[in-house]
Amino acid sequence: MKVAIFSTKYYEKDYLNKHNANTTHELIYFDVPLNKISLALTIGYDAVCVTLTDTINKEVIQGLAHNNIQLIDLRTAGYDYVDINAAAEKNITVLRVPAYSPEAIAEHATALILTLNRKTHKAFNRVREHNFSINNLMGFNLNGKTVGVIGTGKIGRAFCNIMQGFGCSVIAYDIKQSPKVIAKGIAYKSFDDVLAQSDIVAIHCPLNEQTKYLFNTAAFAKMKKGAMLINTSRGAVINTTDAIEALKTEQLGYLGIDVYEGEAELFFKDLSNEVIDDDVMAQLLSFSNVLVTPHQAFFTTEAVNEIAKITIKNFSDFEKGGKLENQIIV
Ligand code: NAD
Repeated sequence: MKVAIFSTKYYEKDYLNKHNANTTHELIYFDVPLNKISLALTIGYDAVCVTLTDTINKEVIQGLAHNNIQLIDLRTAGYDYVDINAAAEKNITVLRVPAYSPEAIAEHATALILTLNRKTHKAFNRVREHNFSINNLMGFNLNGKTVGVIGTGKIGRAFCNIMQGFGCSVIAYDIKQSPKVIAKGIAYKSFDDVLAQSDIVAIHCPLNEQTKYLFNTAAFAKMKKGAMLINTSRGAVINTTDAIEALKTEQLGYLGIDVYEGEAELFFKDLSNEVIDDDVMAQLLSFSNVLVTPHQAFFTTEAVNEIAKITIKNFSDFEKGGKLENQIIV
């Protein structure tokens, strides 16, 4: 199978080539994202392999169908950036990497909590300037705190394990309760109760019509005053403008995000020499109790290796035909 791989980063190629070594797939790497401008590059291929920075809307899918592309293979778990219905209409199969290392994301969520709480980022900078004062570095014990988990799928469950290890009392909200979670002694509660009772709330649900702006002014008002909110799922689960208002009134005490609703214009790019034309992000970065990381929660060697392994397996499964384990069905 001849595959055009878009938005390729230097760190992915070695892993993809390693797992492709014993197959007959021909992989051609493009640094550029797939969008309506780069569509012409897909002529002569059987499949495209894409990620979050690619634009997979109806127009692009129609172009892919015109170029006889049969498969869109995602190097991601989330697929909110793909028009699945448009792909189905054009009979293009969409495969993804449903799970690669839930622990990678759960551990990063923990890193956000610990950094915001214990202010190690500030201590790091301070000590390098020979300032050994501990003023304003006071945090709180995680032990004994209540942590609310929104979405107890693969990542949410890995996060629950870590938080229980810290001695936290974990409660959860999900539209579907998991017996595995209940077996850990974690109680499912209503969304409002989780917000009202938690010192820390962590978002691990997908972005969809129900979860878009789930965290808005009304939700922030239901949280404990000064609570911490962590988001490693998708940016638009939080209404960022509302979050800024909640930070200003100190209703929201801390915000740690690895994802941002306007991230397509910023993340994965070095913009250090440019003017950032995003007032919302600029305002977010002005708060000392806000921590933003550039969608790196997945970024461990284990996870990148696993993504590459499953991506190549998806090509092979598609070529073999039959039932596809990782297919996204409308
Ligand atoms: P998953 O499918 O295993 O779990 C998602 C859970 O959310 C499920 O239990 C589901 O029932 C629940 N859910 C769905 N709708 C809900 C709603 N309206 N309210 C509450 N819960 C709801 O997915 P996962 O592998 O745990 O991944 C979760 C999300 O994490 C992905 O959708 C993706 O957006 C994000 N993610 C981020 C990164 C990163 O690098 N930051 C990496 C991988 C995944």
